[in-house]
Amino acid sequence: MKKKTPKAAFRKLAAIYTRMVDSYADAAQGIGLNCEGCTDNCCYSFFQHHTYIEWAYLWEGLNRLPEKRRALFIKRSEEYVEQARFALQRGERPHIMCPLNLGDEGEGRCGLYEHRLMICRMHGVPNIMKRPDGRGVDFPGCWRCQELTTGMQKQQTEIPVVDRTPLYSDLARLEMEFVGPKLRGLPKVDHTIAEMIVLGPPVLR
Ligand code: SF4
Ligand code: SF4
Repeated sequence: MKKKTPKAAFRKLAAIYTRMVDSYADAAQGIGLNCEGCTDNCCYSFFQHHTYIEWAYLWEGLNRLPEKRRALFIKRSEEYVEQARFALQRGERPHIMCPLNLGDEGEGRCGLYEHRLMICRMHGVPNIMKRPDGRGVDFPGCWRCQELTTGMQKQQTEIPVVDRTPLYSDLARLEMEFVGPKLRGLPKVDHTIAEMIVLGPPVLR
């Protein structure tokens, strides 16, 4: 498999992200889900991310920011990592706002929206996925979505579901094209967004 340049890989990743957003929008529209006035915020969710390509693309976005804004995100990420560590030591699942969310700065949304990661784009609507070992995984969507789909079930209305499988397999292929044969020898990526920021851009050697 021919190794892609970062520029070509990022272009391809942006196209996969667009497909995710479109699939999400179709499903959300079919369910009648929107985030306006939601009493929760998905950006509190504690998630790990698993690809070098997304990590590198996150940093591509950070590097485009003015120095002051990037420094703010790095500082907030350091605080996040520290708070998450304390929560985990107490045996709790961290519930901390993502360091890139600018709600507390009066800006009300993701500070790196075009570069936000896959899970940020898929959370909310029902998803299904077939894993490489053949097992199926179901995600029912967020609490607000589940309230709406419960009503749809009662009325026997078909519920739109996003199939993540082709999106994930394209992302996995792109990961191999981006990193190249060294991928097998590199550590597995298993980081929160804050950790990806604190660690700096991924080292691919
Ligand atoms: S996806 Fe669901 S939980 Fe998240 S902000 Fe939107 S409505 Fe709320
Ligand atoms: S990257 Fe953006 S959308 Fe994703 S959790 Fe952080 S603030 Fe929210």
